[in-house]
Amino acid sequence: MKVITIETRSREEVVDITEEVKRAVTGKNGILVVHSYHTTTGVVINEAEAGLLRDIIDRLSDLVPRNAGYIHDRIDSNADAHIKASLVGNSVVIPVENGKPALGTWQRILFLEFDGPRRRRVNVMFYEAQES
Ligand code: ZN
Repeated sequence: MKVITIETRSREEVVDITEEVKRAVTGKNGILVVHSYHTTTGVVINEAEAGLLRDIIDRLSDLVPRNAGYIHDRIDSNADAHIKASLVGNSVVIPVENGKPALGTWQRILFLEFDGPRRRRVNVMFYEAQES
């Protein structure tokens, strides 16, 4: 198991963690599970083009605006972040083939921050396939 620590720098941000996830691969074939420990962050696989990353953050904010009368905001004013995290999911599973994550040409593993800046932790587990 490998834990990736991410220091986010703004309230909403996308961090490409592909290269760090790759370092958790310790065998030839199997699967990787990448999981965030937090309720206001997400993990997705998509293209890391700068304009697209901005679009993802902006359009999620259009769908789930901040301070829009959420009940949870009575506690810590971050209901929008929890809802965005719920929409995108907080883990991904990636096949590993010949010692590398089986990602398409434009696919990257992206960590989504919705309530930063904070220190975040992502757990990466590699499960090696039993060769028969
Ligand atoms: Zn909260």
